Amino acid sequence: MTDKNTETYLNFVEQIVTRDIAANKNDGRVQTRFPPEPNGYLHIGHAKSICLNFGLARKYNGKCNLRFDDTNPSKEENEYVESIQDDVRWLGFEWDDLFFASSYFDQLYEWAEQLIQDGHAFVCDLSADEMREYRGTPTKVGKNSPFRDRTEDENLDLFRRMKAGEFADGSKTLRAKIDMSSPNLNLRDPVMYRIMRAHHHRTGDDWCIYPMYDFAHGQSDSIEGITHSICTLEFEDHRPLYDWYCEKLGIHHPQQIEFARLNLTYTVMSKRKLLQLVQEGHVSGWDDPRMLTIQGLRRRGYTPESIRQFCETIGVAKFNSTIDMHVLENAIREDLNKRAPRHMAVLDPLKLIITNYPEDKTEERSAINNPEDESMGSRTLPFCRELYIERSDFEEDPPKKYFRLAPGQEVRLRYGFIIKCEDFVKDASTGEVTEVRCTYDPDSYSGGPTATRKVKGTIHWVSARHAVDAEVRLYDHLFDKLDPEDTEEGKDFLSNMNPNSLQTITAKLEPALANVEPGFRCQFERNGYFCADSVDSKPGALVFNRTAALRDSWAKIQKKA
Ligand code: ATP
Ligand code: MG
Repeated sequence: MTDKNTETYLNFVEQIVTRDIAANKNDGRVQTRFPPEPNGYLHIGHAKSICLNFGLARKYNGKCNLRFDDTNPSKEENEYVESIQDDVRWLGFEWDDLFFASSYFDQLYEWAEQLIQDGHAFVCDLSADEMREYRGTPTKVGKNSPFRDRTEDENLDLFRRMKAGEFADGSKTLRAKIDMSSPNLNLRDPVMYRIMRAHHHRTGDDWCIYPMYDFAHGQSDSIEGITHSICTLEFEDHRPLYDWYCEKLGIHHPQQIEFARLNLTYTVMSKRKLLQLVQEGHVSGWDDPRMLTIQGLRRRGYTPESIRQFCETIGVAKFNSTIDMHVLENAIREDLNKRAPRHMAVLDPLKLIITNYPEDKTEERSAINNPEDESMGSRTLPFCRELYIERSDFEEDPPKKYFRLAPGQEVRLRYGFIIKCEDFVKDASTGEVTEVRCTYDPDSYSGGPTATRKVKGTIHWVSARHAVDAEVRLYDHLFDKLDPEDTEEGKDFLSNMNPNSLQTITAKLEPALANVEPGFRCQFERNGYFCADSVDSKPGALVFNRTAALRDSWAKIQKKA
């Protein structure tokens, strides 16, 4: 065994699984599942659960199912069923079997009758309000329902009539008979079935009673032969109920294991809130690149590898915490740094004229595609008298240690020559600099006689005549508070939205980018990682999203120069 496989390197779930295999529990079998409710799109939190569940199956030669926990018809839709499958596959996982909890409605119903016959369940006529009152509180024991002592025959008759549609929505429930004085509120005669005339996305109008999550989830696990049922910490208090149903029914009993859910700074994670952002038009859709949905991250330019690496980095723990958004951004930077071709793009163009360069001449400058990966080769950049440079690379009155262009100052043009600023032109009415005029040193090309002459800065550029325009969307956090839920009295998380989370500009790109396909990813040198928008970009009409800015980009290039 290599070090990586010894117990100290395993997360706590892997440690449990390893011990179970060693003890030949479940005949040494490992089977997990990812059980989303199809009531929204998947987000980065789900990715953590996907990586954990599918990852365990991979690591221990087991199986992992995708199961839709579709027992609450009011919020579920086929659109979500499809997007979830798409997202899981995009993340790089394939399920062994695809299941729907709704396929088990008949079996669950039979098991409910079994519990009634065994004296473990009863039909209750208390209203929702009354039931709440009877339930008590964590510090006050509950009271038995006056309907708790109905005979098994009466319960069976009433439950069958509930199913047959004889009673109004909400007028009766089926409840497990456990213990109204249990310190765990989940064990105070929890509801198993409710009457609800709602159209289900798969079973249509076949049912007017639907099982509660707790009555459906563990049994669905059991039917599929799940060995380790992994869920988030909020379900720790539900575990005794999970166990109770499996024991009372005498069925295969998976082990529920709880882990900490992922929380990230500057974002909300619950599907309900993400849905609200979409429905109220605060974002352009589930795939808005500012959304931390899988679809949003994907459109933003994240790779599946970077998301898997992020999940690996944050690990799996048993206590809740909030991960800094930088950790996610670092994951995509690291991945794209290795893989993304480099290109030139000027986001805030300022015209630069090389006065001693012939007007009609064009030459090709050779540029390296990826300094991290020699096999990616090189390309050429057209160079001529008129260029665009970044407006921030020129200062009329440079501060100290400003090593870019300023009157009288020299810089190197990336893959080009050393230039010296001789003059600049200002718009008389606005005071804005509209043109910078320079001379170049024709011998300072790479390998040339004066190539090694020291200048402190290097800036990027594109040829004005050859550049192509692109719409570029610069994103910032959707919320400007670390915790968007931290609001002023009487306000909700929407009050913390960042009004400047999207800035749209027109940039000038090197011509090699003119025909890139939607989804194309690259680094714009010194500006960050960008991708051609998968929805709005077309060859010839480019739209780029900024995936992530570069860290310390300027400092790094200065050092190299
Ligand atoms: P939400 O509160 O966002 O609606 P959920 O837990 O209700 O999330 P489900 O569709 O029920 O969403 O979740 C499917 C699986 O993903 C569950 O096993 C759940 O524990 C897991 N999951 C959901 N959110 C997170 C998260 N933030 N971190 C880790 N796992 C998560
Ligand atoms: Mg849920």
